[in-house]
Amino acid sequence: MPKVFFTPGPAQLYPTFEPHVLTAVREQIGSISHRSKQFKAIYQHADEQLRLLLHIPATHAILFTGSATEIWERALQNGSGRESFHLVNGSFSKRFYEFASELGRTAHKVEAPFGSGFNLDDIILPEGVELVCLTHNETSSGVSTTVADIHQLKRRYPDKLFVVDMVSSAPYPDFDFSLVDSAFFSVQKGFGLPAGLGVWIVNERFLHKAESLKAQGTYIGTHHSLPTLWKNYKSFETPATPNVLGIYLLGRVAQDMNQKGITEIRRETENRAERIYKLLEDHPVLKPAVTNPKHRSHTVLVASTTDSAPAIIEGLKAKNIVIGSGYGTYKETQIRIANFPANTEEQVGSLLTALQKSS
Ligand SMILES: *Cc1c(COP(=O)(O)O)cnc(C)c1O
Repeated sequence: MPKVFFTPGPAQLYPTFEPHVLTAVREQIGSISHRSKQFKAIYQHADEQLRLLLHIPATHAILFTGSATEIWERALQNGSGRESFHLVNGSFSKRFYEFASELGRTAHKVEAPFGSGFNLDDIILPEGVELVCLTHNETSSGVSTTVADIHQLKRRYPDKLFVVDMVSSAPYPDFDFSLVDSAFFSVQKGFGLPAGLGVWIVNERFLHKAESLKAQGTYIGTHHSLPTLWKNYKSFETPATPNVLGIYLLGRVAQDMNQKGITEIRRETENRAERIYKLLEDHPVLKPAVTNPKHRSHTVLVASTTDSAPAIIEGLKAKNIVIGSGYGTYKETQIRIANFPANTEEQVGSLLTALQKSS
């Protein structure tokens, strides 16, 4: 019997993945030139479907990289010459912050304990900060920052560039891109696709910043600097040979999501998260790890347990249900459950039943 994945990435594949792959094979996508009209149409299709899905305005380009980790580096190189600011509350936001130091930036941070979120009203950004780096959904701890809070922080600091890691929440968050200069994700989480593609949504202001840094002699990257990616994007091309199959599949899955409707996907995500948290609240040995309900993620739900977490995971695995382990040092005491659009209602039902029985 096939396994059902509720892992926070790589994750369950989108239900239409298989027919789309078969079409791609039949159309010999793997052998086409990335300078061909056929490829440009594939890029344009993915661009159009993602724009529709996430309400991305014409001020923003949609660029492709190797991974989201690469975009941490590219965003820092192209959006800050000297100073960046980070909210750190887990392994992913911490790594983003460390990249800034490794790139020689003065990296400011406000840190919250693992499992806690931030009160963004209290955040004061230092004068010299050029780039504000936020992680919408901290995958290691299951803590989210609300979209409204991110918008509000940007309203208070309209002159600073904002970049948002939405890797383990996209397509769920409904950002107003007039308040988000840049956001990014990779496809093996909420889009239910195999890994190997980063998606960088970025606006003209960010591009102008990169151009001015370059003009001052700051190193902004080689094959994937923002100006080279943008220049290629204008004709739906990429600087290097990209993951053509990945881009093709992303366009198709985004189209399927549009057919379902983003409102319905968001509603379903919230409804499922609510049911899982409710189960955890009432459970004999599991409980939500994030105590403040406002900061609980809708897409990566983390539970603490007084029992052995590995034993719970093994128990579910015997029923062909795969969930994530606690992150790093939380392996023994936490489990992580992804709530991504690829899972069917029936699969979620089986998960709830199996979780109910684990104690
Ligand atoms: C998974 C993840 C990343 C890294 O994504 P890659 O595709 O592995 O580069 C970055 N940020 C967050 C929040 C993640 O969950």
